[in-house]
Amino acid sequence: MAQVDQFVTVADTVRPTIAARGKPHVVIIGGGFAGLNAAKGLAEAPVKVTVIDRRNHHLFAPLLYQVATAQLSPANIAQPIRSILRKQENANVLLGEVAGIDTQARTVELDSGRILAYDYLVVAVGATHSYFGHDEWAPMAPGLKTIDDATEIRKRILLAFEHAENEPDPRKREAMLTFVVIGGGPTGVELAGAIGEIAGHTLVKEFENIDPRDSRILLLEGLPRILPMFPEALSVDAEKDLAKFGVQVRTNSLVTDIDEHGVNIGDERIDANTVIWAAGVQVSRLTQVLRNLAELDRAGRVPVERELHIAGHPEIFVVGDAASVKTRDGKPVPGVAPAAMQEGKWAAANIVRAVNGHSYTPFRYQDKGSLATIGRHQAVASVKGRNFNGFLAWWMWMVVHVFYLNGLRNRTLVISQWAFSYLSFGRNARLITGEQPKTLEKKS
Ligand SMILES: Cc1cc2nc3c(=O)[nH]c(=O)nc-3n(C[C@H](O)[C@H](O)[C@H](O)COP(=O)(O)OP(=O)(O)OC[C@H]3O[C@@H](n4cnc5c(N)ncnc54)[C@H](O)[C@@H]3O)c2cc1C
Repeated sequence: MAQVDQFVTVADTVRPTIAARGKPHVVIIGGGFAGLNAAKGLAEAPVKVTVIDRRNHHLFAPLLYQVATAQLSPANIAQPIRSILRKQENANVLLGEVAGIDTQARTVELDSGRILAYDYLVVAVGATHSYFGHDEWAPMAPGLKTIDDATEIRKRILLAFEHAENEPDPRKREAMLTFVVIGGGPTGVELAGAIGEIAGHTLVKEFENIDPRDSRILLLEGLPRILPMFPEALSVDAEKDLAKFGVQVRTNSLVTDIDEHGVNIGDERIDANTVIWAAGVQVSRLTQVLRNLAELDRAGRVPVERELHIAGHPEIFVVGDAASVKTRDGKPVPGVAPAAMQEGKWAAANIVRAVNGHSYTPFRYQDKGSLATIGRHQAVASVKGRNFNGFLAWWMWMVVHVFYLNGLRNRTLVISQWAFSYLSFGRNARLITGEQPKTLEKKS
């Protein structure tokens, strides 16, 4: 039977004081935007912090599409959590998947069987894509959430051109050069625009038998417009900008089936060898263990009080994409990185207040606006009620992303990669890794 770690004691009161029983133990599940900011927010607090993540790195997901489209290398957008927190003396980092939470005993259990007791728990497990009940589509249409997903998508995109180069049958070649991106949110728009740049600029003149500019790139969205979270005028701008990169946008287009050779939209068939999924949100499975404490929404988000803890459980905070948080006027806080960072910091501040004998304060969300890039010189931004597009929005997008990226090394590398790509139209990370089909021959 697993043993409870002895270096902490289980809390016997909801708001323990340091004088009463030593340093409280704060366990944070997830080293993403919310979890990492919660940990940093506790740096000066008289608590012991343990951050548990199933990956050893913090991932800057907003730039993941650039790894999937060969612009950046994986290490440019990820950093070991252990290294980020190395100077924080009260923090400890554990690599492992949390498999269960015992809210009565106040313990979490890792998949290794190790059990840790907590006084305060911060659940910051994030979300992934949802196939709306069609998980069988996943192998044919990978989604983009992890570094592994990004390198798999990169491989599929680059291999499509290689396969087409070797394919004598024009019908098959056409399917090989057809790319379908499903989901017209920021990730889908960014992926489709970047594939357009690869086909229209990066790979031109590199092949003998095909012209990459003949590629067909489709962005499918089930709703009446792409980027539904942006003002309508920016959705229209984005659609026009995507057309400049050769992307055809199809709205009101619900995909009804996906197989190895393409997709169906009702009776319509689109033959395509590369299909990418950029739709739907599903919270990490772990929140299911909290469903006896709160009614989860359809995506598995945990509803929390304005102070960010579960109702009746002031010792359990849920933050970031895993939480369903409402603003003061009852609007849902969006599942974006700035919201996750703010919630992580706020949960930490409330824990500090509690250990100092003060009561919690309600979360106040600061909307920093929305940004999506489409390609060279093209982006859309909506900030404090003002709309921006084109070159200015593209600059704003770059500055914001570099600003929030973790670590000076990564910032410098990303800026230099972008400068190189800007000047040369090239993409630095065009590696096809993993198993490769034997039929591929080198171009002589
Ligand atoms: C491709 C993509 C592009 C995006 N682009 C943008 C953008 O441009 N702008 C923007 O604001 N937002 C963007 N987002 C959304 C943004 O990344 C999320 O809102 C943000 O990551 C949420 O932070 P989080 O801490 O809640 O979750 P995450 O950052 O996802 O972190 C969750 C962490 O929990 C860990 N974890 C999960 N379950 C367990 C478990 N059981 N045990 C241990 N560890 C676990 C995971 O490994 C992960 O490290 C994008 C997301 C994606 C996927």
